[in-house]
Parts: sequence; structure tokens; C-alpha cells
Amino acid sequence: MKTDILIIGGSSIGLNCAYYLLKSGRKVTILEAHEVAQGNVSGNAGQIVPSHIIPLAAPGVASSALKWMLNEKTSPFGMAMRFDIDYVKWLVQFARSCNEANLKRGIPAMKNLGQLSAGNFQKIITEENIACHYGQTGMITLFKDAKTFSAGVHDAEVLQTHGIAVQVLDKTALHALEPNLQNDVIGGTHCKQDCFVNPALFLKSLSERVREMGAEIFEHTPVTGFEIENKKITKVKTAEKIFEAEQIILATGVWSPQLARDLKLQIPVQPARGYSLTIDSIKQMPQHAFTLGDRHVAVTPFGNLLRVTGRLEVGQFDRTPNPKWIHRLENFLREYFVLDEKINIVETWAGLRPVTPDGIPIIGKSPLHTNLIVATGHAMLGLTLGPATGQIVSELVNGKDTAFDISPFALERFM
Ligand SMILES: Cc1cc2nc3c(=O)[nH]c(=O)nc-3n(C[C@H](O)[C@H](O)[C@H](O)COP(=O)(O)OP(=O)(O)OC[C@H]3O[C@@H](n4cnc5c(N)ncnc54)[C@H](O)[C@@H]3O)c2cc1C
Repeated sequence: MKTDILIIGGSSIGLNCAYYLLKSGRKVTILEAHEVAQGNVSGNAGQIVPSHIIPLAAPGVASSALKWMLNEKTSPFGMAMRFDIDYVKWLVQFARSCNEANLKRGIPAMKNLGQLSAGNFQKIITEENIACHYGQTGMITLFKDAKTFSAGVHDAEVLQTHGIAVQVLDKTALHALEPNLQNDVIGGTHCKQDCFVNPALFLKSLSERVREMGAEIFEHTPVTGFEIENKKITKVKTAEKIFEAEQIILATGVWSPQLARDLKLQIPVQPARGYSLTIDSIKQMPQHAFTLGDRHVAVTPFGNLLRVTGRLEVGQFDRTPNPKWIHRLENFLREYFVLDEKINIVETWAGLRPVTPDGIPIIGKSPLHTNLIVATGHAMLGLTLGPATGQIVSELVNGKDTAFDISPFALERFM
């Protein structure tokens, strides 16, 4: 079957690429192994956080992660003990990237992508009339401990030097904004540009819009292999059909490395599993998105639902929610918010973040193929950075100048 643009993966990155390519007048086919608009997004925290400009691999992160792991019950970080060569290589590369040089390279790149995406999100939601509990009240990091609050204030100052607006809230100001907090929450930092959506509703609407715009979507159609001639991918194989395309976009999150292997392309992405717990019928629903600063846990309201997400377990592929961690997430929520003794859990979920060793996504043309673009490795920000990635990929496909210099995202940096 012949097509113009073939997108492999129908989640946040794949659907946003489809949207911008269709808008530019291209014809799009999407191949999705399961169902579109699910991926590792539907149960995520739903936070759109352009304030997250510090790449995951930053000075002190590797040592903090090891320290946290000494206390298993509260550690926001975990790690699989696996001895395959790609995983071990990734861990070493990650530890080596936790330095100032990576910050210097990563911050402007992440800021460009985040700012473009925040604007694009607003446009998509308004222009396409998407109902997804879009909240524009900002994200507040909450603190109970004086030492972590003071570290949070320092982080806010660093963000301010990079042009991100952050307001420090003392206890009185914070409790006036959110009256339902426990009395021992002593302060917060408020990133006002950040916002939030119900990610499942946003992606479902985006997939419907993309269909209306003419995309052909093949669900339950995993790509199984490729054929290449003179550096051009000539065939994309699935169990029932073979596809031929002018351009192919690889947007398969944590599964990108295994698909790319057949293309002789090394993509250093590892999964980082996290969990979520969604409850309903809270008497006093919070009005902002939050990070529980002492716990590294996110809390987001969507209409009458409240979602708590946390944990980053590197190297874990299994997507079964761990009851022990679901229970701990509930306890962490209670440490910060006044809740009824009995709460109604409507969903528990586990998802896999695609993480590169330097914490910066991979977006760009394949160095080995004439008709392949790779868009993956968005780690904790695959929802936030979806619309910007979609625009950049569309610009690349159409031979246009990209909105900004995308060289920091090139796959070549790992070759
Ligand atoms: C607990 C948690 C909370 C999070 N919170 C946030 C947040 O608040 N804000 C934010 O911005 N990000 C958040 N994230 C991160 C975000 O969910 C990821 O970055 C995002 O899922 C990456 O999107 P993706 O499209 O690259 O990959 P995925 O969502 O993993 O989608 C990849 C798609 O490719 C498909 N696929 C795989 N193999 C094949 C194949 N062979 N053929 C065809 N299709 C295939 C899969 O079925 C899947 O649909 C969170 C993640 C977790 C786990």
C-alpha cells in the first residue's frame, strides 16, 4: 500500500506529528500496535510544564538517585537490575551526562521546545475546540520541609535567570490560594505559565480531529520490519500489509530502539516506569496542578477527578501498576491535602517514559536513511512537548526552516 507520510506510533508524539503534517497539506497514514491515543500518556499527570527546562541528566541527579534508593519506601527513583549491554551502557552514559556541560547545552534547547509547545497547545485546544479540562492556573510545587523549601526557592531563582516566571509563595499566600492543604505545608513556588489537561481526553480528541482531517489510521497493526535499498526505506512490514511511503516518522516511545535495530540504527532510549492513581468525589477540588516537592509526586485536578502520579523506575518494561506504590501515592497525597478517610479510586495505571542518557529528546532526520525522521526520548515531557515536536517534524518533512536550531536534539550526538 502506497502512502505519502507513514507515522509509526499513535500516541502523543505520533498524533501531534500527524496533526501538523495534515495541516501542512500532506497525506498521513498512522500504524499503531494497539489503539491510538493511549500509549504511555492516557494515565499520566497531564501537566503541560514549559518550566521544566532542566534536563533529567543534571549535576547531582545520579548521586541523589542512589541516596534516595537507600530508603525504598519513599524513594522517587528505582532501577532494574538487568545486565544487557544496551542498558548498562545507557546507565553509564546517563551518569556521565549529569554535568554542567549537559545543562548548558540542554537548557536553551528544552526552553525553545517548551515555549513553542505551550503556545501550540493553546492554539490546538482553542482552534479545534477540544474539551479536556484545560487548566491555566499554573503548577505549584509544595513544601513541608524548610530545607527542601529553601532548595525549591533556589531552583526558582535559577529558572528566573532563564526567563521562566516563578513566584515564591509563603504559607499565608499559599493557603489563601489552596485552602484544602494540610496546615504543615509551609510554602510553595508557582510556575504560572504551566497548565494541565486530562491527557486521555486531549489525545482522544486529537485522534478524532486527525481522522476528520483525512488520516488513515491502522490500529492493532504493529510494524514488524523494514526493507531498505540505497539508504531508502522501501517497505514497512506489518502482519497483513506492506506499506511504502515518501517519509516515515518513528514515534514509538520506549519501543523505538527495538524497531530501529532492524534499520541498523542505535537509539539509546530506556523505559522509566511510573504509576498513577485517580480518585473522584473530593469535597474541595484543588484548582492548580502540583508537585509534592518533598516527595517528587505530581497531583493534577481534571474536572471531578484528582490524579496522583509518581516514581521513576529505570529499566522496567512491565506495565502492571504496583499496589505497594499505589498505596504509597495515596499516603503522600494525604500528607499534603485534607481528604476524607475513605476515598474512591477510579483508576490505577502504570506507564513507561522514554528516556535518553542526557535527558534531551531525539528529534531529527536519521543519519543513515534518506526518508526517516526519529521523534522520541521525551522522558517526563512527552505530553508537554508533543505539539512542538509535531510542528518541527512537519517543518523537516516539508523542507522548511525549523522554528529554532534543532541540532541539540540530533541522534548523531550519541554516535
Ligand atoms: C507516571 C507518568 C506521568 C507522566 N506525566 C507527564 C506529564 O504530566 N506531562 C508530560 O508532558 N509527560 C508526562 N509523562 C511522560 C509522557 O507520558 C511520555 O513522555 C509520553 O508517553 C511519550 O509519548 P510517545 O508518543 O513518545 O510514546 P508512547 O506514549 O509510549 O507511545 C508510543 C506508541 O507507539 C506504539 N508502538 C510501539 N511499537 C509499535 C510498533 N511496532 N508498531 C506500531 N506502533 C507501535 C505504542 O503502542 C504506543 O501507542 C508521564 C509519564 C508517566 C509514566
